[in-house]
Amino acid sequence: MRVYGETIFAEMTRLAVETGSVNLGQGFPDTDGPRSLLEAASGHILEGVNQYPPGPGRPELREAVSRYRARNYGIELDPETEVYVTVGATAGIAAAMLALVERGDEVIVFEPMYDSYAAMITLAGGVRRSVTLRPDAETGRFAFDPEELRAAVGPRTRMVLVNTPHNPTGTVFTADELEEIARVCREHDLIAFTDEVYEFLTFDGRPHVPLAALPGMRERTLSVSSVGKMFAVTGWKTGWVMGPAPLVGAVRTVNQFLTFSANGALQLATAEAIDHQGEWVAAQRATLQDKRDRLAEGLAGTGFDVNVCEGTYFLMADIRPLGYTDGVEVARALPREAGVAAVPAQVFYDHQEEGAHLLRFAFCKRDEVLDEAIARLTGWHKREA
Ligand code: PMP
Ligand code: GLN
Repeated sequence: MRVYGETIFAEMTRLAVETGSVNLGQGFPDTDGPRSLLEAASGHILEGVNQYPPGPGRPELREAVSRYRARNYGIELDPETEVYVTVGATAGIAAAMLALVERGDEVIVFEPMYDSYAAMITLAGGVRRSVTLRPDAETGRFAFDPEELRAAVGPRTRMVLVNTPHNPTGTVFTADELEEIARVCREHDLIAFTDEVYEFLTFDGRPHVPLAALPGMRERTLSVSSVGKMFAVTGWKTGWVMGPAPLVGAVRTVNQFLTFSANGALQLATAEAIDHQGEWVAAQRATLQDKRDRLAEGLAGTGFDVNVCEGTYFLMADIRPLGYTDGVEVARALPREAGVAAVPAQVFYDHQEEGAHLLRFAFCKRDEVLDEAIARLTGWHKREA
């Protein structure tokens, strides 16, 4: 594990703090979630919900999760055996990889990929086979080549890992794209693992389609989501895994010894919000869509080539029109030179050359913060020129 060192998010946030930079690196909102959610959590703490909750999670939260998956996607889950609460999606991902990937098993992932997948597959003794998402030459939307996906399957393949809406590209996989993945899973009898933490953050009216909703996929798909992005409380670290009882049971076995249980007061507040805060989530989605446009236009104005973003907190920008090719170098220099922090996309790739020229910017920030970043980047490039 030594190769992993400090995560890129921690490094860029540290650099941002040291240099007084506007931090568009790590993806966390700079405004809080709904007031009623925060009050409910503090109320539950004061009422005495402060001891260990049940290992699988508070029944109120498991039931609320089961209701929203049925309501939104028609996926029926037994809250007793098919939903399990974890310390954020992160612990769900960790427990799932440790539970389901055996030494030498291959896991197909789409690169660029969220950093914890690579680390956890490695810790489990698994081997990654990465399929590259590339921007379409015409539209700039990141997508995969189905041939490349099929070619990645071998005799040791155990699992396909899918993150939609996708961090860091902002792609929201379409039903057709997901069907390509589903077909491969069915034909080769593979498990699917889906990370859907941005499920409610899709833009321009695009639907989020869970892979588990496709024919033949429910029984082989384990999914993870969490409260962090749903209600803009990324520090709450309250997540849940969902899927058929045998897969959820395997996660439970491992998680008993990882974290055992997660914060009970936050689980109760989350359960109530899931049932009653649909309007807040819709408003958040609209606000984030405007922020995406604000940052995309601003970055394009400073000379970046901005890729299409359909969801999440992030968009990808190409530095080559500005005369640079090495995103890691630019990301390390930007905080000192411009007073802005972003994440070099290269760290999300196995085939690093595919993402060397890309930076990931987070737009989940107040408008004045986004405007300040753009003003600084405009000044920076003028000084450089
Ligand atoms: N998956 C993805 C794709 C993410 O971007 C993040 C970052 N929040 C996580 C999982 C982790 O979620 P949590 O904070 O609930 O652990
Ligand atoms: N999910 C957040 C991001 O992609 C970061 C979470 C973390 O710091 N590990 O920026």
